[in-house]
Amino acid sequence: MVTRAKTAKPARAQAARRRKTTGTRTKTGAARTRSRKPRLNLKMFRQLLLQERERLYGELEAMAARTARRGKLDSAIHEQDFDDNPGDAATETLERGTDMALERNLHDILEQIEHSLGKIESRTYGVCDVCGGPITERRLKALLYAVLCIQCQGRLEER
Ligand SMILES: [Zn+2]
Repeated sequence: MVTRAKTAKPARAQAARRRKTTGTRTKTGAARTRSRKPRLNLKMFRQLLLQERERLYGELEAMAARTARRGKLDSAIHEQDFDDNPGDAATETLERGTDMALERNLHDILEQIEHSLGKIESRTYGVCDVCGGPITERRLKALLYAVLCIQCQGRLEER
């Protein structure tokens, strides 16, 4: 009895000590397990999204300036005789069409960025819009404004 009590005491102390060390270790350990679930650095993603939005608005502005310049160029060309060179007109039309498609694409992306920023506010960033499952951090880093998980995106593209 006495010997048992003697050995029990240091064993208890040891256990307490062990608990203490694991206690400090769980701090980082818990953070690691939590990050396995979509525990995203929302602040960083918001920053990146805002940067991307800024960049795209810049592109839109540059495009508008280009279109305006081309408009002026067009009227200048039209004042000259341009029947000799119909190829230029065709190229012009083609370029304008490409710009319009690009512009539409930019607007689409900007819309998705706004949507993603809204998802950050409502704490659903990184959650798939369709199935509610997690969107991997890797996917979000590659495509900041991804609102669908890779599976749902795949199903969408199959249709
Ligand atoms: Zn999904």
